[in-house]
Amino acid sequence: MTLSEHAEEILEALWIAVEEEGADSLDPRKLDFPCDDPAYRELTDRAMIELRQGLVYFRPEGLEEGKMSIRRHRLAERLIMDIFNIRGEDGDLKACQFEHLLKDGVDTKLCTMLNHPATCPHGKAIPPGACCDDARAKGDLGVVPLTEFKPGQEGEIAYIQTGDNKKILVQSYPSYIFRIGFSEFAVDTALAMEIFVRKQ
Ligand SMILES: [Zn+2]
Ligand SMILES: [Zn+2]
Repeated sequence: MTLSEHAEEILEALWIAVEEEGADSLDPRKLDFPCDDPAYRELTDRAMIELRQGLVYFRPEGLEEGKMSIRRHRLAERLIMDIFNIRGEDGDLKACQFEHLLKDGVDTKLCTMLNHPATCPHGKAIPPGACCDDARAKGDLGVVPLTEFKPGQEGEIAYIQTGDNKKILVQSYPSYIFRIGFSEFAVDTALAMEIFVRKQ
């Protein structure tokens, strides 16, 4: 059974407190929902946390689950902020909503599409998943900018990451040439770095 969104938020806040800030517990008053939220009961019933003297402590299962929740949160930030270009408070809010959809392998697909990113847009580490370890072991970079392709290598365009769509129309200095069907396209280095391709 999947955890409620509040339960995941508790685990994430606790994981950051313990793993990144060196604390041993979390004060639930730091979260913006009440201390009697049913999510605490949900987590103690599943032996993920322990409550002692009003503070929240991890149990081992909770630590792993918290790590995976942080991973989904920071992958969602990469998607919302880098690819969808939604920034500021709205970007934070959308990432918080989106992260809960990244389950049952969707997180793995997103991580692969994003080329197994090591950090979130704020520079915090994204805990690696099995997909990241596999990709590194095979020397497979996943999705890379077109500039990393060699002549003759085949792939498919995964996404174009640009904050300025007009650039696609105005810049065509021939430097990187790629073919789709019978059409050939020449793009300069700056544009090629914004076209992400999946090797085949
Ligand atoms: Zn972040
Ligand atoms: Zn990955």
